[in-house]
Amino acid sequence: MKNKGKLGFFCFVLILGGVVLFAAKNEGGPASLNSGPAISQEKNLSQNSSVNLSQMKLSQNNLSQNSSVKVPEIVVSSETLEQGDTLLVKIETDAETTEINGNFGGQKIYFFRRGNFLASVVGVGTKKEPGNYELSIGLPDGAQYKKQIKVEKTAWRVRKLKVTKELEEKGLTQTKIIENLSLRDGPLVKAAVSSFSPEAYFDKPFIYPLKKIIDVGPFGDIRESPSGTVQHLGADLDADTGTPVFSINDGVVVFVKDLPTYGKTIIVDHGLGIFSLYLHLDEFKVKESQKTNRGDIIALSGNTGYSIGPHLHFSIKAQGASVDPIKFIKTLTGL
Ligand SMILES: [Zn+2]
Repeated sequence: MKNKGKLGFFCFVLILGGVVLFAAKNEGGPASLNSGPAISQEKNLSQNSSVNLSQMKLSQNNLSQNSSVKVPEIVVSSETLEQGDTLLVKIETDAETTEINGNFGGQKIYFFRRGNFLASVVGVGTKKEPGNYELSIGLPDGAQYKKQIKVEKTAWRVRKLKVTKELEEKGLTQTKIIENLSLRDGPLVKAAVSSFSPEAYFDKPFIYPLKKIIDVGPFGDIRESPSGTVQHLGADLDADTGTPVFSINDGVVVFVKDLPTYGKTIIVDHGLGIFSLYLHLDEFKVKESQKTNRGDIIALSGNTGYSIGPHLHFSIKAQGASVDPIKFIKTLTGL
């Protein structure tokens, strides 16, 4: 029935706030390399571009500290990231508090408890300026840590924004799609993800939203048209209409709406500024304000809105930044 595997070039949408002129400015510039208190690093690991979970052991700056004090171990998912990546930060500590003073490139980051660790999840937006950013962490006992995290430019693919005759007949021309994204669908979604709880509603790793994951429309593609340029800020996952869509973790359903371009759309708030978005659905199985658990069926996938074939468009927002949702889930298996 369906041309599996060929959907890639045809399956669009979804472009959350990605219209260039309206792109959210939440990224901040590169960190100054010489700001903040002088803290020596035991070892400079920045040359190591390995993407495996790498441990960074940093010395405490307070030389008068009793040497018997246990220095918490701090682990980052990678010291070199690309635009659209997710950074996972973990601190091994049994301290009761989650009130850690964390900062990445000038942006506050939030921690939650996960077993023996406190963890933070940081989204690196697609428009984050490439460069070195400072990760700084201050613990309640006064201990401070700093680490340079490098953000590299991602080579996004550039494609034409395609529209079929059928979509044009439904009124979804290139101009109308760009207009909807800028003035209607985009702002509604942006408003839904603009405020969040600094607490996490989840305490387990994330799962995929479908039983079978076939990425037919990669995250980050730039789509050009004479009316404007948009970036595909999600992954298009192959799915026949009517395929069960799972909540990728515990959370609260904050948005259930039928939009002209995104089609039937659900947004789940997972706390900590992490939202999952599911677009072009056929049928809703949840209502706004409803709590949802990891693995619950929240919808059936479909082909609504600006969509050329049945699929699930799946997006993740992390503190306002759109990140590659597949990489996000893989990174957070390290939780
Ligand atoms: Zn899409």
